[in-house]
Amino acid sequence: MSLKILSGLEVSKHLYSQYIQKISKLKTKNIIPGLAVVLVGDNPASKIYVRSKTKKFNDLDLHSTTIKVENSTTEDDLIKIINKLNNDKKYHGILVQLPLPNHIDKNKIINSIDPKKDVDGFHPENVGLLSIGSPRFIPCTPKGIIRLMEFYNISLKNKHVVVVGRSNLVGRPISILASSKGEFLNGTTTICHSGTPDLSIYTKTADVLISAIGKTEFLTSNHIKRDAILIDVGINKISSNNSKGYRIVGDFKWDSISKVASYATPVPGGVGPMTIAMLIENTIIAAELYS
Ligand code: NDP
Repeated sequence: MSLKILSGLEVSKHLYSQYIQKISKLKTKNIIPGLAVVLVGDNPASKIYVRSKTKKFNDLDLHSTTIKVENSTTEDDLIKIINKLNNDKKYHGILVQLPLPNHIDKNKIINSIDPKKDVDGFHPENVGLLSIGSPRFIPCTPKGIIRLMEFYNISLKNKHVVVVGRSNLVGRPISILASSKGEFLNGTTTICHSGTPDLSIYTKTADVLISAIGKTEFLTSNHIKRDAILIDVGINKISSNNSKGYRIVGDFKWDSISKVASYATPVPGGVGPMTIAMLIENTIIAAELYS
């Protein structure tokens, strides 16, 4: 079987055409979905992520603003900014770009976002709702992965899903979502992390292998079984002779896995565009539910 590409670029284009209809419907009620992004400091990668997220909002004529604050800002000042946004009806979604500087407690900041505006799905109330099978906002990357598989008619039912990585952003929520009840879900899930001895024992049993570790081309054909479906969340920068001086690769070594896997997401162009599409989708949902 030759490798089939799961193209997040293609699928997100298809989704945007659906969103345009929803946005038009909201506009007839004088509602424009709005997102406020809070960017602390000048982390170059964060700036790029924020730019690509807000660009899509602009492309779709949605409301978005980025509030930039100094790296030295205090936790209290950041919470004041978030409180103001919680009470601003223009913004249906609030996103605080991570990582935050070390002197700021990430959890305190996430907890200060109104859970009904938490379009990232990181607030404990939303994490809890996902865990009990009644999700409100599903974190964008896990939701994007499932939407991508849905588009290609790949169900997790009767499949062993192995997730490598257990972060609150990606690994943990995708493992919860994949094992939830629901169409295209119902997978049987194993979660691995840096403390897992002999990773390949687990990854080789995966029908669907999802990697979210952020290690350049770490997983090879030695880690996967024939015809596995591979979802690569990793974004890793490596030096290159191109004009930028770098290129982006995933956690899987493409040349190696492409001879063995049945489906795989490319990096770039796989999970990344789906994550952004889901941010827009969650903001539309917030506008529909809570305007
Ligand atoms: P974190 O650094 O928070 O988590 C990485 C996870 O990988 C941890 O659970 C860690 O284990 C585990 N890990 C690290 N090394 C190994 C190893 N050798 N074997 C097994 N497990 C390992 O990262 P994130 O979850 O935030 O992001 C992961 C990657 O995904 C990054 O490259 C990030 O840039 C990318 N990303 C991409 C997105 C997209 O839209 N495409 C969106 C979000 C993130 P432990 O817990 O034990 O430390």
